[in-house]
Amino acid sequence: MAASTETCKQTPGAFAPVIDTRRCEGKADCVRVCPYDVFAVRTLTAGERGALSFLTRVKVAVHGGKQAFVVNAGQCEACGLCVAACPEHAITLARNQPL
Ligand code: SF4
Repeated sequence: MAASTETCKQTPGAFAPVIDTRRCEGKADCVRVCPYDVFAVRTLTAGERGALSFLTRVKVAVHGGKQAFVVNAGQCEACGLCVAACPEHAITLARNQPL
């Protein structure tokens, strides 16, 4: 099913997705559904792996060593498609603080 932007009602950048690294398994559903290319999935660097808890490092390794990253937060229109699509319930939306 094609992603829809019909429900996107927020000014771009007013909200941004937050990924729970304890939950993300890099399955890339967020990449597939986001109409604005906000996400990328890639292999974690050694430093990024080192910042995770032991259990999360093991979990990430079992799932190919990849996780999702927010690479274009300013493009998010808070449609919620990624929140609904993530099978691990790893994504929430947070309102950005005004400058
Ligand atoms: S809510 Fe998620 S799917 Fe929608 S624009 Fe923002 S990052 Fe993309």
